[in-house]
Amino acid sequence: MIKTQGKPLFYGHKILLLTALEFVLAFSGLGFVHYGSATIMYIPVIAAAYFYGIRAGVFLGFVFGITSIWEASMAGVDYFDSLFSPFSSGNIAGSIYTALGARMLFGFASGVLFTLFKNVKINEYVKVTVLSITAQLIHTLLVLIPMGHLFPKAHINEEYITGNIFSVNEMLQLILLTVIMCVTLYISKNKRLAEIEKILDEGRQSYYTKRLKIEGAFFVLFLFLVILALMFHLHDMTIMVVNAADIELPFQTRIMFINIQIQFLIGVAAISYIIGIFITSYRVYAFYHINNADKDLMTGLYSKTTAVDYGATVINNKKDFPDTYFIMIDIDNFKGINDTYGHLTGDNVIISIARFLEKHFGAYGLVSRFGGDEFVVFITRSLNKNDIERKIQEFQFDAANISLEDNRKVTCSIGICHVDNEKKFDEVYRKADETLYQVKTSGRNGYRFYKKV
Ligand code: GH3
Ligand code: MG
Repeated sequence: MIKTQGKPLFYGHKILLLTALEFVLAFSGLGFVHYGSATIMYIPVIAAAYFYGIRAGVFLGFVFGITSIWEASMAGVDYFDSLFSPFSSGNIAGSIYTALGARMLFGFASGVLFTLFKNVKINEYVKVTVLSITAQLIHTLLVLIPMGHLFPKAHINEEYITGNIFSVNEMLQLILLTVIMCVTLYISKNKRLAEIEKILDEGRQSYYTKRLKIEGAFFVLFLFLVILALMFHLHDMTIMVVNAADIELPFQTRIMFINIQIQFLIGVAAISYIIGIFITSYRVYAFYHINNADKDLMTGLYSKTTAVDYGATVINNKKDFPDTYFIMIDIDNFKGINDTYGHLTGDNVIISIARFLEKHFGAYGLVSRFGGDEFVVFITRSLNKNDIERKIQEFQFDAANISLEDNRKVTCSIGICHVDNEKKFDEVYRKADETLYQVKTSGRNGYRFYKKV
């Protein structure tokens, strides 16, 4: 595991995840159209360089190179592909450069490119698209230009290289590359993932990180043994079938069979690792929140404790949160819903309301279940008064559509307070609560902004 940036644990896992992805691509046929010729194998390299910097790019370039040598060394690859294998090209140093050196240089160049443009302020998706395409072209040039000199018989000249760059195949690869990079960028902005990363990155509680390591080690060991057993079985079966057909396999071919099974082993192990990491990180995340009472278990929203802490942070750091709204939401006549339909239905209404609040406000701040049928929302990002009114109406529309027997509608009363010069969270809380009470007493099912009387 490589350690860098002073935060080894999860950073290492992220690099291993990309490495595992590279192995899956290499040994599943997804990454190579046919043996030895790269298609989307460079995507994990570009992703590593983009998200984790130069060193990560070089490391993934190295992994790319190793798998490329491996594939190129298989029996039956065509002449061009065999040039990537130091075992079959006849030019050991040339192949090592082409397969390994060029790919590590490519990882390095991508890392430098992304670092140089890190602070350039243009739309991130446009940036990642343009830079990824550039990185891909750098890859083509780093491989093909020296190849023309190292392997004159391959007749790689300017015309060949231009044709390669403007081929339909290359265009399709570029489209796939940019789509995957943009989707990865979008996913990386997911709030929950960011939170998981933060918990793991900071190793906030040694208990969780220790648990991750122990669980992970057992998981990997167990999988390795299972996959090894599968591999031996597969090998035995293959030989049995070949024997049954009365075919005498030459020694070289037997070795190739074992080689294929090792590729299978690595491919399955890599997929298992990716799945294992996802399961383990979500478990660590859940443990973390339960043990810290950060979240309400029924709805998954933040707990009252977290919301109150957040309120204090917002008020103490006015500079960072210049335009904050505090919203209190209480379900109308909720006792009646419990009494009429039972507590189970009541619970489901609470869960639905939680989902709708998250849907409309989750991206703009913090949503919490304050207790019972009462919720609070802090809006700290990019919403003005009109936006908030529109979002509240959209939320009310969703709530009214929660299906209850006899078409009874679920409604809420909502009090909103803009955080101005309050010194304590309690003051904001009192103002929003007063406003909510006014809505309740004037017929419920509505919202109101706090006004000083
Ligand atoms: P109002 O319009 O004035 O808010 O009337 P209300 O009936 O909603 O009154 P209130 O908000 O005081 O009632 C909250 C009720 O919610 C009381 C409690 O029995 C119920 N409750 C609290 N927690 C839960 C829960 O987790 N599940 C269910 N089903 N009911 C809950
Ligand atoms: Mg209520």
